[in-house]
Amino acid sequence: METETTLSCTGIRRAYRADGEVVWALWDVDAVAIAGQITVLAGPSGSGKSTLLRVIAGIDEPDEGTVEVSGRNLTAMSARARRKFRSRHMGYLFQDPAANLLSYLTVSQHLEMAGRIRRSLPDHDLLTRLEIDMLADEYPARLSAGQQQRAALAAAVVGNPDVILADEPTAELDSQSAHLAVTALSRLRDMGVTLVVTSHDPEVVEVADRVIRLEHGEVKT
Ligand code: ADP
Ligand code: MG
Repeated sequence: METETTLSCTGIRRAYRADGEVVWALWDVDAVAIAGQITVLAGPSGSGKSTLLRVIAGIDEPDEGTVEVSGRNLTAMSARARRKFRSRHMGYLFQDPAANLLSYLTVSQHLEMAGRIRRSLPDHDLLTRLEIDMLADEYPARLSAGQQQRAALAAAVVGNPDVILADEPTAELDSQSAHLAVTALSRLRDMGVTLVVTSHDPEVVEVADRVIRLEHGEVKT
């Protein structure tokens, strides 16, 4: 089996400073994600999962360490270059499904917009694979949280970005919607999409090809 590394983090440290106190959310974290796999960043609440995902996405800058995505060093880029790199090469999903969509665009318009950003034609077949084809012309307010999350996933993969990053994609969903979201993740993986997903949901961990466990900001070995 091919094991091409899509992204790697080395020696990541990230602190939050509030009221003169320093909290190390990540301490010397090393992690890799392999192309075509689902890598799950697992761990209890407060273990640093979201922080690590934002560092990988280049939304947050680490205090120490290096993030490489597709052979490009994100930590060496300017904030502007990182933003541009992210829009072309990565799809990012927030935990709150509604936060991933624009209220004034329909589901298919989200796919078209993603296609313009990544200079590619939107593949409307994706909607069928994610079981939201009947909702193509609906606005986000008309969708359930689960349908919103799958619409966001569909838009995220348009143009075949190098990696999809999803922060606790089932946390806000009822169990049936969560199950559909997990099915969507594994279908995308079967299409060759590379995913990095934070979660403490056992069903998500179940479909993972690799699990990286965090505890108090450190990788548990
Ligand atoms: P998880 O996603 O696993 O729940 P987080 O990455 O959100 O963990 O948080 C890791 C640690 O960093 C926690 O101790 C949390 O309280 C702290 N933290 C996260 N975000 C902030 C912030 N904006 N300001 C201060 N502390 C934060
Ligand atoms: Mg989190």
